[in-house]
Amino acid sequence: MANCPACGAPIEGHQEKCSYCGAVLPKEEISTPTQQPTKVKKHDRNKIVAALLAFFLGTFGADLFYLGKNKEGVIYLLVSYLSCGIGATVILVLSIIHMVQYLMMSDEEFDEKYNY
Ligand SMILES: [Zn+2]
Repeated sequence: MANCPACGAPIEGHQEKCSYCGAVLPKEEISTPTQQPTKVKKHDRNKIVAALLAFFLGTFGADLFYLGKNKEGVIYLLVSYLSCGIGATVILVLSIIHMVQYLMMSDEEFDEKYNY
């Protein structure tokens, strides 16, 4: 129960003015927790999925497409196939490196990098 700051009379409910002295009462502060602007995830990509894609379909650039790096994915795809398999070996090695990178990353790091 609040009291009028002017005369000290008890105030009932949500009066705007004190019914005793007529003083305007300060509005009750509603303590709503200030909403932190939480970062909204744009994607829900998963590093395990990315790692598996890199491992099994890395020569197709699948992990890169999955992570939205379409340009890089296309480059991987082209290098793999235009070089008649020579490039595919290189891409395969790169993909395995990618896989390890995804797995070494913490979930937070991965989210920061690919999901926001
Ligand atoms: Zn009053």
